[in-house]
Order: sequence, then C-alpha cells, then structure tokens
Amino acid sequence: MFLNDPGELSREALIARLEAQPDWDVIVIGGGATGLGCALDAASRGYRTALLEAHDFAKGTSSRSTKLVHGGVRYLAQGRVGLVHEALLERWRLSRNAPALVRRQRFVVPVYRLRDKLKLGAGLAAYDMLAGSHGFGRARLLDAAQTLAVLPTVRSAGLKGGIAYFDGQFDDAGLAIALARSTVAAGGLVLNYMPVTGLLHDSGKVAGVTAQDAEGGRSFTLSARVVINATGVWADALRRMDEPGCASMLSPSQGVHLVVGAQWLPGGDALLVPETEDGRVLFMIPWQGKVLLGTTDTPRADVPVEPRPLPGEIDFILRTAASCLSRAPGRRDVLSVFAGLRPLISAAPGEPTGRLSREHVIRTSPSGLVTIGGGKWTTYRRMAEEVIDRAVKLAGLASRPCETAELRLVMPRATAGASAPLHPRLDIDRARVETAVRFEFARNLEDVLARRHRGLFLDAGAALEVAPEVAAILAATLGHDAAWAHAQCDRFGVLAQAYRIEAQAE
Ligand SMILES: Cc1cc2nc3c(=O)[nH]c(=O)nc-3n(C[C@H](O)[C@H](O)[C@H](O)COP(=O)(O)OP(=O)(O)OC[C@H]3O[C@@H](n4cnc5c(N)ncnc54)[C@H](O)[C@@H]3O)c2cc1C
Repeated sequence: MFLNDPGELSREALIARLEAQPDWDVIVIGGGATGLGCALDAASRGYRTALLEAHDFAKGTSSRSTKLVHGGVRYLAQGRVGLVHEALLERWRLSRNAPALVRRQRFVVPVYRLRDKLKLGAGLAAYDMLAGSHGFGRARLLDAAQTLAVLPTVRSAGLKGGIAYFDGQFDDAGLAIALARSTVAAGGLVLNYMPVTGLLHDSGKVAGVTAQDAEGGRSFTLSARVVINATGVWADALRRMDEPGCASMLSPSQGVHLVVGAQWLPGGDALLVPETEDGRVLFMIPWQGKVLLGTTDTPRADVPVEPRPLPGEIDFILRTAASCLSRAPGRRDVLSVFAGLRPLISAAPGEPTGRLSREHVIRTSPSGLVTIGGGKWTTYRRMAEEVIDRAVKLAGLASRPCETAELRLVMPRATAGASAPLHPRLDIDRARVETAVRFEFARNLEDVLARRHRGLFLDAGAALEVAPEVAAILAATLGHDAAWAHAQCDRFGVLAQAYRIEAQAE
C-alpha cells in the first residue's frame, strides 16, 4: 500500500486542525521512533490520531542511535533468538517500505585467534539462517590478506583473517521525519514543540491531555478514547502525572558515539570489534561520508534532554578502536561527539545495563494509560502494532487490521545539488534548508542542522561555521527578522560547542 505525499505542511494549518478537532480516538505522547510508529499505525487503520512532541521529532534518543537496522549480532550471542529473528524480519520490511532511507552495509570482523574465527563464523552463519529468505547477503570467511584488502587500517600483526557479513544502516532522524509525514498522509495529525502538560481523568480513567504550544504559548485541552505514553526515557515522568509515586519502569543507559573522518576506515566496509573490555561490541561504521565509532553502555539516573559523555566514555571508545587499528584516531581527530539514552526496562537491582532486556514492554495503568518502553529502532513497527492492538481493545474502538507491514512510507524529497553548498565540508544548500521548513516541520536552526541535515552530528565545527547563513535562510523562509536569526545562532552556538571534543571530560 502506498501513501500520497502530503505536500507542504505549515504549522499554522496543523495547529488549526488541533483547534478545530478537540476529540480524538488515539493521542500519542512523544515523537520518537516509538510514538511515531504508533501514530502511523493508528492513523493508517483509520483511527482519528494526534501525536504531540515536546521538542522536535527525534530530538530524544531517536536521533542518537548507531543507525543500524539490525537483528543484533550481540543479542544472538546472548541466546536471544526470538528477538533477533523478529528484528531481522523488520529489517527486511523497512528496507522495502523505506528504500531511500535504509541501505545494505557490509561489516567485517577482524579475528586474531583461529577459534574466534570458527565461533564468530558459526554465529554469523546462524544470523543469516535466522533471516531466511529475508537476508541481506551471506556471511563469509576471509583470510588475512583479504581482510587487510577490505580494511586497510586494521592491525595486521597476528591477524588470522576475518568474517564479512551484511546488515542494514539508516538515517534515524530522517526515518522519524518520514514517519511523521506518512502519519499526516494517512490522515493523522503530528505536532512538534507541543509538550503534554497534564493528563485529564474522568471517573478515574485517562480521558485526554492538556498540551501547550511551546512557540505561541496557547494551551489545548484534548479528549481521547485512549492515550499512549511513548516518551522514551521520560516515560516514568509521564506515568507519575497519572499515578504519582508509581515505581520506575525504566533504567536509562547512556551510549556515546564519536564521529571521525572517512580516512580512518577507507574502503566502505564497517568494522565490528567483537569483544570490548566490558564484554560488548564496538562498531566503526561509514556514515554520510564520515565514520561513526560507538558505543558505550553507562547507567544514568538522570535523564537530560541533551546528555553529555561521562568521564572515561570517550577514551574507552578511542582505546577500543586503537586495539584493532594500525593507525587510530585520537581526540584531536574527533569531529563530533553525541550521546543518547536507552530506555531500558528495569530489572533486578544491581543487574548491569548491558544485560538488561532490549525487548519492549507495554504496561496499562489502572487508569488506562498505555505506556510503551524499551525496544529498538529496528522493531518500532512491530512494537507499534502490538501497542495499537492493545489500545484499540482497551478503548473499545472498532477492531481494524494493522496495515503497516506492507505500507510504503512517504520518502524524503530530493534536493541535493539544487543550489551551491553553503559550506565546503557539509552537503547542505539553500534548497535543503527551505525543504526542511516547508515539508519537514523544521522550526529552528537546531532542527535543520541536527536532524533534517546531520551537520551537528557529522562535524560540529562546520555546523557552527555554517549556522549564520542557514539562520538567515530560515528567517526568510519562516518570516522572522534578523534579531531572531541572531538569537538562533547564539543558542545553536552553545549547543554545538557541547558536541565538540574540546568541551568533553578526559
Ligand atoms: C546509543 C544508542 C544506540 C542505539 N543504536 C540503535 C541501533 O543502531 N539500532 C536500533 O534499532 N536501535 C538503536 N538504539 C535504540 C533506539 O534508538 C531506541 O530504542 C529508540 O530511539 C527509542 O525511541 P523512543 O521513541 O522510545 O524514545 P525517544 O526517541 O527518546 O522519544 C521520546 C520522545 O518523547 C518526548 N516527550 C517526553 N516528554 C514529553 C511530553 N510531556 N510531551 C510530549 N512529548 C514528550 C521527547 O521529547 C522525545 O522526543 C540505540 C539507542 C542508543 C541510546
């Protein structure tokens, strides 16, 4: 099934729809992978659906992932066969339903002990087997010379060979915008910069929400047959609006990524370090002309909107990368540093977060608030299907089948090369900025330079340099004056500084 491109989307028109329609079947709180997946699922089944996001779409965890659509080689090693199988099927579905946003990526695991080669080779063959007819390509063993040919920067001393396998890669923030546009195309309403400020109750049951336009300040009171809490690591805060004092459902864990130049991993293949000192895996992945290194897994009690690396996280990544490279990047080579918070489901006290379940959990509170926590980007569609099935029953809505397994998403509009680049190190031009505003809900400089274009994540210094020109184009497109553009640059300057390595603890 295909959706028609919804065309230009003005905030004024979206807010006018919210004003005109205060009654909804489904209200989704949170515009990350999980909430957007739920909104698209509900809207495409024909329910009257609104999604409200406090900041920008994917401002939370959903723009800070490793950008893999994957079954999770690591989860297979942990024996989580069901999770891997389901994710591999979703990987295939997503590559078919969002072809412009998902690409096949080859990974190579260098090995230095023959028994690792056999063990990993068998594991990756099982990974392919689990994908069955939905595979991305077969894993194969490489000898040392073949491994060095595809990974020229890998440490050659003691190299016994490697294993090559395939997985999926995507642009997380780009997919979030495609989901938001697809939801509108399916008849739903999505609004960023519209935080939910309270829940409405009627005879002890959740009956709607209050929300406030973060730009205009106007408050809205909206009723709903069912309210879905898809606020990621902020889900416990939302649950406490409903049930003050309820026990935490989530144990957030931070993951940091570093971005370095393409010269550190020439050749186009990604590299997987199969066992880090904390028993995890580390990826080095070509991404949008740069190389992404990550990630860490550090428990965090607080849930800041802009998490920053904790002491030791950056050095851990650089040290692990250096352990298998003949020439490795150092701190001065890092172009950008970003951190995200995994909304992991709480387990027994003291259990390390690396062992916590990556599977999702759906909880319904006594008042009928449906909370979805955990999971991963790759399985957002499957999670949404389960949530909406549950929500429909709970609300007594007419049952309708899920449509999203076959639903082709609205793909981004092509703008590349329409006008001259605005910066020598970033492929952003005037057309990209205007498209972000007119078609992709961008409201400010950060939306454009962090999520519509990924400049802040790819090269924070270049993003800072291009900011004044982008702000001027934005001001002209949105109808703001020079003072607005100036204030945007000041705000973005503070943010971008925090993505630069100089600002980070050793
Ligand atoms: C370091 C790291 C690497 C990862 N790598 C991968 C990967 O490679 N592949 C993969 O499949 N998965 C990966 N994941 C997991 C994946 O990114 C997450 O599971 C997913 O993004 C979570 O999405 P979410 O919508 O639940 O949360 P979020 O994206 O955080 O969205 C929640 C939203 O709710 C909003 N919100 C909060 N309060 C309110 C309110 N009161 N009103 C309105 N809105 C509100 C927030 O602003 C936020 O935008 C990774 C995660 C991390 C941290």
